Amino acid sequence: MPPDQPTQRDLFDHRPAWEEDDVRRGTIATVVLPDGIAKPLDYLVPEALAAAVEPGRRVRVPLGKANQMRLAYCVAVRSDELPQQPLKSIAGVEDDRPLLSRRMLDLTEWMAERWMARWGEVLEAVLPAGVRFRQQGRISPLLVASGLASPRSPTPGQARVLAAAMEPATAEQLAAASGASRAVVARLVKTGHLREVGSVEVARSARGQRAAIVHDRPAALSPAQAGALAAITGCMRESRHETIVLFGVTGSGKTEVYLQAVEETVSYGRQAIVLVPEISLTPQTCDRFRARFGTVAVLHSHLTPAERHAQWREIAAGRVNVVVGARSAIFAPTPRLGLIVIDEEHESSFKQATAPRYHAREVAEWIARAERVPLVLGSATPALETFARCLSGEWRMCRLADRVGGAELPAVITVDLRERGARSRGAVSPRLAAGIRWALDAGGQVMLLLNRRGFATHVQCQACGHAMNCPQCDIALTLHQPGSRGICHGCGLVTRVPADCPECRSPGLVQRGTGTQRLEEQVRRTFPDAAVARMDTDTMRSRGSHERTLDAFRDRQIDILVGTQMIAKGLDFPNVMLVGVVNADAALHLADFRAAERTCQLVTQVAGRSGRGPLGGRVVVQTSTPDHPAIRAAAAHDYEAFVRSELPIREALLYPPYGHVIRFVVRGADERRVAEWAGTLVDRLRAGAEPMAGGVRVLGPAPAPIPRLRERFRWHLQVHGPDGPALRQLVQRATAGLKTPDGIAWIVDVDPVEML
Ligand code: ADP
Ligand code: ZN
Ligand code: ZN
Repeated sequence: MPPDQPTQRDLFDHRPAWEEDDVRRGTIATVVLPDGIAKPLDYLVPEALAAAVEPGRRVRVPLGKANQMRLAYCVAVRSDELPQQPLKSIAGVEDDRPLLSRRMLDLTEWMAERWMARWGEVLEAVLPAGVRFRQQGRISPLLVASGLASPRSPTPGQARVLAAAMEPATAEQLAAASGASRAVVARLVKTGHLREVGSVEVARSARGQRAAIVHDRPAALSPAQAGALAAITGCMRESRHETIVLFGVTGSGKTEVYLQAVEETVSYGRQAIVLVPEISLTPQTCDRFRARFGTVAVLHSHLTPAERHAQWREIAAGRVNVVVGARSAIFAPTPRLGLIVIDEEHESSFKQATAPRYHAREVAEWIARAERVPLVLGSATPALETFARCLSGEWRMCRLADRVGGAELPAVITVDLRERGARSRGAVSPRLAAGIRWALDAGGQVMLLLNRRGFATHVQCQACGHAMNCPQCDIALTLHQPGSRGICHGCGLVTRVPADCPECRSPGLVQRGTGTQRLEEQVRRTFPDAAVARMDTDTMRSRGSHERTLDAFRDRQIDILVGTQMIAKGLDFPNVMLVGVVNADAALHLADFRAAERTCQLVTQVAGRSGRGPLGGRVVVQTSTPDHPAIRAAAAHDYEAFVRSELPIREALLYPPYGHVIRFVVRGADERRVAEWAGTLVDRLRAGAEPMAGGVRVLGPAPAPIPRLRERFRWHLQVHGPDGPALRQLVQRATAGLKTPDGIAWIVDVDPVEML
C-alpha cells in the first residue's frame, strides 16, 4: 500500500499523541537574560525545583557550549510537550520570592517592544539595584531584627540582645534594650542569628500620619480646582481609567488638586504615585506632601541602593501610601495603586536617556489603564504630544486659567537685543537693569535666568579667528573662573586656557558669550548693595547646597538669584518681583524640532516665578528674535497661542505628535567607518521603507549636532513615519541579524526627546 494512504489503524485505532511513548511532557520555564542574548530561552524545570521556579523570580541557568552559569529572569512557566532537541535544566533558584509581579512582567515586555529595548535590560531597569543585591545577601543598614536561632555559645551581650529581639526592633532599640553595643547586634546579623525583616524609618512616621493630614489645607477650592478634582475622583469611584490633563498657569493651584486627589485615594486605603522632575524634587515639594500625609516615600537619585531598597519594601508591604519620586518611581511596587500624578509632565527628563529609553508618561498610562485608575498630568505648558491627545478627545483637559486668589500674571517687557544700546552694559540691558532696580527699591527679590553656566561660553583668537575647542569633542570650551580653566560641557575635560593663541601665537584671545559666572560678576558690580547668589551645577555640587541656597533666598538673605534652568522649575517665592530672562533664544536655534517648544516652555515657566505675592511683578525677556511665535506667546502668557501656531507645522512635516521618529546614533573613533556604517543603516532602512505605505522617510546620514564627543565621532540618522508600530517593524527587519563592525557602537532611540 502506498504510504500516503491512511490505513484502518491510522483512522480508527490510533492512540492519542499524549500516549505515544516518544512524546514526553514536562515543566518548561521561559527565562530572559539581563544582557547578551535578547531572545527568551526555554529550560526544563527539574522536579526538585518545581515549587520554587515561578515567573518573577531569578534562576541560574547553564548557557552556551561551556554551560557557564548565568542569572536569568523567569518570565513564564508552562506544562508542555518536550521538544525533540533536549532542553537544558535550570540549575537553581536565586530569589526566595518573586521580585516582579505578573503585571510588571507584562509591562516590561510591552516596554521592550515599545522602545525597541531588550526585555532583559528593561527588567534590570525597573528593579532598583538594592532590590537585586539584597537577594544576593547584602544587608540594608536600616534594620529591624527578629530573633532566630541562638549561637552555640553566646556571650552575655549576645544572649541579652537575642532575648530582647523577640519582637521586631531597630538595631538601636535592641542595643538600648539589652545594654549591649551596636556592634554586638551587627555581629548577630552577620552570623545570621538576627534577620533583617524591614525598615523602620517609614514605619515610625506612619503613626504620625493622621495628625498631620489636615495641615495647610485651604478652606475651599476654586471652581476650576473643584472641577478638576471632581473629574479625578469620579474616575476613582467608578474604578475607571482616564487621563486628565491639568493645564494651568503657575500658581493656579494644580498642586493643591494633586494633594486633595491623593487624600481621596488614601482615604480609600489605596496608594498614589506622584512623579516630579528630579530637579523639582526639592525639600519644598516634598515638605508639602509630607505636611499633608506624614508618611511619604521619596525616591530620588541620591538614595543609596540600600535606602532605595528599604523604601521599596515599605511600599510593597503597603505600609506607605504616597510615593513621590523622579522618573523611575513609576515602577514602585504598589499593591493597591489608586492614582498616578505626573507634575510638569512636559519635562524631557521623564524620558530616560539611556537604554531602555522609555518615557515615564507612557509607562504611567499603561499602568493606569491596566489598574483602572486615573492618570493626572499637570503643566503650565503641556507637551504638544499631550495637547494633541486632548484635542483629539482621547484625554480630558481641565483648565486652571487663573492664579489662585486672582493674582495678576506679571507684565512682560521684551527687550530686542538687536537694537543699539541693548547690549551696552554687557549681558544686562539698561531696561533689565532698570527692572532690577525697581524690584530692589520696592523691597522685592530678583531671579535672573541664563541657561549657560561658566564665565565665557567660548574663547576665540581675534587675530586668526581660531576658537578653542575641546581636544576630545567638537564643542567650544567654556571658560570658567577663577583660574582660566577651559571646561568641556560635553565630556567634562578641564584644560588651562593659554594666554596666547595656540594657532598663530598672537596674544589676542577674547572671551565671548556670557555664562552665569560672568553674569553674577556683572550683577554684583552693577548692584553693589544687593546680596547676589548663583545657582547652577557648578555651585550646587555638594549635597544640600541646593536646599541651603533656596532657604537663604526664601529668608531674603539673597536679593538676586542668578541661575540656569535650575531656578525655573516649581519654586514658589512670593517676594519675587522681577524675573529676567537674559537670553531667551539661547536654545531656539538648536537642530531639534522641539527647540521652539522648549524655549516657549522655559520662558513661560520662569516668567511664572514673578509676581506671586501681593506686590505684583514684572518679567524682562531679552531676545534677538522678539517676533518668534515661541517668544511672543511666552511674553503674552499665552502658551496656547504657541500651540496653535506650532501644531500645523508639526502636522505638515509629520513630526510628533502627528508622526513618529526613530533616531539612530552611530559612534566610533574612525570617522570614515562611522559614516560608512551610518550609510549602511540608511540603505537598509530605505530598502525596507520602499514597499511601505506612504509617509515613511529616512533622513541622513549626517554628522550629529555634537559631531564628536569623548574622541568618538557621532553620526545620526532618523526614520519618520505616521505609524509607530509599522516604523518599529521596519527598523526591526532592517537591523535583524546585522553584525556590527568592530569599533562601532550604535543606539536606537524611539520617539527621542534629545536630538544632540
Ligand atoms: P501650582 O501647582 O499650579 O503652581 P499651587 O497649588 O502651588 O499652584 O498653588 C499656589 C499657591 O496657592 C500655594 O501657596 C497654595 O497653597 C495656594 N492655594 C492653592 N489652592 C488654594 C485655594 N483653593 N485657596 C487658597 N489658597 C490656595
Ligand atoms: Zn590666532
Ligand atoms: Zn570634551
